[in-house]
Amino acid sequence: MRKYFILLVVVFCMDSTNLFAGKESSVTDKRFDSFKERFIKDLWKHNPMWATEIGFHAYDSILEINNEQYRNGQVAFSKSYLDSLKTFDKVALSSLNRMDYGLIENYLNSNIFYITEMKGWQWNPSSYNATGNVAFMLSENYEPLNKRLVNIGKKLSQFKSYYEVAKKNIANPTDEHLKLAMEQNAGGIAALETDLLDSLKQSTLKADVKLNITQSLTDAKKAVEDYIAFLKDFKNENPRSFRLGKDLYAKKFEYEIQSQYTYQQIYHSAMQRKSYLHNEMFKISDKLWSKYFGTKAKPVDSLAMIKMMIDTISVRHVKPDEFQSAIEKQLPELVKFINEKNLIYIDPSKPLKVRREPAYMAGVAGASISSPGPYDKGGNTYYNVGSLSGWSAERAESYLREYNHYILQILNIHEAIPGHYTQLVYSNNAPSIIKAVFGNGAMIEGWAVYGELMMLENGYGDNEPEMWLMYYKWNLRTVCNTILDVSVHTKDMTEAQALNLLENEAFQQKAEAQGKWRRVSVTNVQLTSYYTGFKEIYDLREELKKKMGSKFNLKAFHEKFLSYGSAPVKMIREEMLSEIK
Ligand code: ZN
Ligand code: ZN
Repeated sequence: MRKYFILLVVVFCMDSTNLFAGKESSVTDKRFDSFKERFIKDLWKHNPMWATEIGFHAYDSILEINNEQYRNGQVAFSKSYLDSLKTFDKVALSSLNRMDYGLIENYLNSNIFYITEMKGWQWNPSSYNATGNVAFMLSENYEPLNKRLVNIGKKLSQFKSYYEVAKKNIANPTDEHLKLAMEQNAGGIAALETDLLDSLKQSTLKADVKLNITQSLTDAKKAVEDYIAFLKDFKNENPRSFRLGKDLYAKKFEYEIQSQYTYQQIYHSAMQRKSYLHNEMFKISDKLWSKYFGTKAKPVDSLAMIKMMIDTISVRHVKPDEFQSAIEKQLPELVKFINEKNLIYIDPSKPLKVRREPAYMAGVAGASISSPGPYDKGGNTYYNVGSLSGWSAERAESYLREYNHYILQILNIHEAIPGHYTQLVYSNNAPSIIKAVFGNGAMIEGWAVYGELMMLENGYGDNEPEMWLMYYKWNLRTVCNTILDVSVHTKDMTEAQALNLLENEAFQQKAEAQGKWRRVSVTNVQLTSYYTGFKEIYDLREELKKKMGSKFNLKAFHEKFLSYGSAPVKMIREEMLSEIK
C-alpha cells in the first residue's frame, strides 16, 4: 500500500504552530488554510495507521480493518472532500495554496482509484501486514515506552479480525505477491516477537498489564501464522499476472508521478538517453584506452569495451575504514564549489550533521538523509553513513568498487549537497503540512538526479573523462530503471531480457540485476520517478533559458524552483512560466 511507504526524504522539519501559515492572507487563502486544517485532522481519523507513521499519535491503538464498510468510508471521505475543494476558486489562491489544492485533489482521486480500480486489496496479499506498523511504534521513541506498549497491546488484539478480513478479500492474487506476503509476514512477526518481549522486560508496567500484552502477542502471532498457512494452501488456479498492464499503469503513473508527460513519452525519452549515454561512454573509453590498456587490442563490441574501462577505473576507491570520513570531508568541498560557481545559495547556518547509520537501519551501508516528520518539532536532520566494519574483505572490496572514488562524490551530490539535503532546507522555508504529507517523489528524486548533471556541467571534477564516464554509468541506472519498469509492466519484457538490459547495457553486477528484477515484479511505477523528475526539471530549465534569453540566471532558477517546496514539477512549471510573463 503506497501510503504506508515512508520515504525518508519526504518528511520535513517544521514548527507545528506554523503549519498552516500562508504568505498571503487573502480571504480565500484564509478560508483555504482552515479547510486544510480540517482536512488533515479528518485524514488521520480515517487513516490511523498512516497517522501513527507520520507522527500523529491520537489513533495509535487502532488497526484498520479493510472490509467493505471501511472501503466505502474511504471513497465517501474522498468524494466529500473533492466536493468541498470545488467551492474554492483556484485562481484566487496564492501559488503555494494552489499547489496544496492540486496535491489534495490528486490524493483524493488516487484514493478512489486504488480502491475501486486498482484493487490491490484483492490481488496483493502483501498489502496485509500489520507487523511493520507495530514494530514502528516499538522502535520510535516518540512517547514513553509504557504508553506505547499499552497501545501496541490494543493493536495486537485486533490482528485476528484484521487477517480474517484479509483472507475474505483475497481473490486471484499474483504468485509473486503471494510469496512476498508469506515472507514479509513471517519475517515481520518473528522480529516483532523478539523486540516486544525484550521491551516488555524493560518496561515498568504492572505484571498483569504485561501479561495481557503477552497474551495479545500470542494471539496475534497465531493470526499471522494462520494467514501464512492460508496463503500456502491457496488454490491459485487462475493467478493474476504481476504485470500491471497498460491501462492501470497509465493511470497509476498519472497519480503517482504527476508529470506533464505520459509514461510512453518518458519511455521514449529514456530509450534515447540510453543511446546517447552509450555513445558518449564509447567515445570516452576509446580516448582513455591507451592510458589504461596500452597497446592491448580493443574489444570489437563497444559495450564490452566500456565495461572493461569501468571495471578498471573502479579500482580507485577509499579504504574500508575511511568510508565515512571520506564522505564527511567532501561536504565542505561541495559547498565551496557551489559558492565559487554561484550555483545556489547554501544557508551556512544549517550545516548537515553526518552520523554513523543507526543500527535499526538494518545495515544497508551507503548514505541516506533522515529528517523528522511534520509533527516532530525541533528534531534533527542527519546524513546517515553506513560503516563497513565487520564486513569480509571480499564484500567490502566489491562494495567500494561500486562506490569508487568517482561515484562516491556523485552519491554525495545526490544525497546531500546540492541534492536531497539542500532541497530539504529550501522546502522548510515554505512549510506546508500538505506538501510534507503528499510531497511529490518524482520532484524530490528528480532534483537530486538533476543536481548530479548540473554540478558536472559546471566543471565539478575538472571535466576529468573518468568522472564523466562514471557519472554516465550512474545516470544509466536511473534511465534503465525507467525502461525496465515500463517494459515489464506494459510490454511483457521477460526476466532474461531484463537481466540482459541491466548487466550488458547498464553494466550492473549479476546480484544487483537479480535484485532489481525481484523489485520490478512486486512494485510498479515508482522506479520511473527518478528519470521522469530529472527530465522534467532539465526541460523546464532549457525552456526558461529559451524564453528568458539573457535574463536567465542559473542560480536564480535553482532558488526559485526550490522555493515552492516538494510539489510536482508540472505545477512548479506552471507557476514559473506564468511569473515570467
Ligand atoms: Zn580495491
Ligand atoms: Zn534520492
